[in-house]
Amino acid sequence: MGQRLPCGSGRNRPVPCPRRVHRGAGTGRGVAPAAPPRPLSAAMTDTTDTFDAGPCPCCTGPFRVRRRALLAASLVAAFPAKAALPEGPARTLAGLGPERRLSLVHAADEERWEGTYWRNGAYDAQALDALSHLLRDRTADKAGTIAPSVFDILYLLDRRIVGRGFVVVSAYRTPETQAALAARWGRAATSSFHVTGQAVDVRRPGLHATGLLGAAVQLRAGGVGLYRGASPYVHLDTGPVRRW
Ligand SMILES: [Zn+2]
Repeated sequence: MGQRLPCGSGRNRPVPCPRRVHRGAGTGRGVAPAAPPRPLSAAMTDTTDTFDAGPCPCCTGPFRVRRRALLAASLVAAFPAKAALPEGPARTLAGLGPERRLSLVHAADEERWEGTYWRNGAYDAQALDALSHLLRDRTADKAGTIAPSVFDILYLLDRRIVGRGFVVVSAYRTPETQAALAARWGRAATSSFHVTGQAVDVRRPGLHATGLLGAAVQLRAGGVGLYRGASPYVHLDTGPVRRW
C-alpha cells in the first residue's frame, strides 16, 4: 500500500507531502523529493491499482489517488510504430541485461522516481504509471501517458555517459499548455511530441548539455534538440531521427 508520511516535520526541511512520493517499481518504498538517490529494496507485493495515502493536513483534505489501471501490454500497444525505437538502438537494448532502471528528478519540485521499469522481457505497468505521473504537465497538473520507448532512450543514454540519472525539465504537455507556450514564445510548435507523450526535456547532472546532446545524436534513437540559455537542456523524442 502507499506509504504514509508525516507532513511538516523533518530535520532540515519539511517531509514532503505524500502526493509527491512515488514508489520505485518492485520496491514498495517511497522516494522522497530532494533526498539523494538511494537503492530500493523490499519486494512489493501490492498489486492494487489504488493507493490511499490517508488524510493529508498539508493539502486540501483527504485524498485518494486513483491510479490508472494501466497494463504494460496495452500501454505499449497504445504507442505502435510511431514510438518504436529504430532498429539499431532496439538491437542494443535487446542485448542488455534483464532489468532496466532509471533515476529521474523533476526540476520543478525535485519530485523523484527511481526504480526498475522493465524486467525479464516486460515493462512494469506500475512503474510506467508512476513515471507518467512524475512526467505530468505541471502547469495543468495533469498526467498523460508517456511512451515506454522514451524511458528506453533515457536508459540507453544513461549507460553511455558519465554521471547518473536525469533532471526532467519538461515532458507531457496538454494541448492547452502547448498552445499557451506557442502563443507566449512564438517559437514552440503548436503540435509537439510532448503532447503525445513521446518527448522529454532533460539535463544530466555533472554533464553539460552539449555533451548530452552529442551522446543522444550518436544514439540515433529519435529527435534530439539542444536548448541553449542559462540552464541549457536537451530535448529527446521518439519521432524520426533528426537533430536541431
Ligand atoms: Zn522538448
